[in-house]
Amino acid sequence: METSDVQADLKHVLYSREQIQQRIAELAADIDKDYEGRELLIVGVLKGAVMVMADLARALHSHVKMDWMAVSSYGSGTQSSGVVRILKDLETDLMGKHVLIVEDIIDSGLTLSWLKTNLLSRGPATVEICTLLRKPAAAKVDLDVKYVGFDIPNEFVVGYGLDFAEKYRNLDFVGTLAPHVYE
Ligand code: 5GP
Ligand code: MG
Ligand code: MG
Repeated sequence: METSDVQADLKHVLYSREQIQQRIAELAADIDKDYEGRELLIVGVLKGAVMVMADLARALHSHVKMDWMAVSSYGSGTQSSGVVRILKDLETDLMGKHVLIVEDIIDSGLTLSWLKTNLLSRGPATVEICTLLRKPAAAKVDLDVKYVGFDIPNEFVVGYGLDFAEKYRNLDFVGTLAPHVYE
């Protein structure tokens, strides 16, 4: 696919590469401060959080360990059901650990709510959440999210890890799709 084809699929850029990197640096500074003197395990939720994990991890100054999970939300189409299946579990024993879940986006919050409860049942010291994007208008559960990059309108976005039919994950910015792509 030519670069020009990708550009034609996009309606507008919501956050540029520079804006994302700037915000991630700020979040990393907060996380460094909050976890000072404690060992942190950051848990990336595949596949969407790959970009955020990679950039956040490199922006942190403290030692962190990294692990990954893959989950799939049961339910049809784009609606999250809150019933989650673990496709790939952590390799780390969470007992006594400080855990920070890293996500690309929180929409209804159902997936993260399930995941947080699941991780809390494994005996960690703490479990917090960091997400690059959040859609407050789409929230279906009350979820405590300690680190939020950007609150965005209730619109479907792609790029920087986020896909539409597995495409656009590799964009280094976040944008909205042109209607001809999904109609
Ligand atoms: P939730 O359980 O919070 O409703 O669903 C979260 C998951 O839905 C995200 O991890 C992501 O995979 C998907 N999702 C929600 N909103 C968007 C969006 O605007 N764009 C893309 N590409 N995926 C989204
Ligand atoms: Mg995700
Ligand atoms: Mg997806």
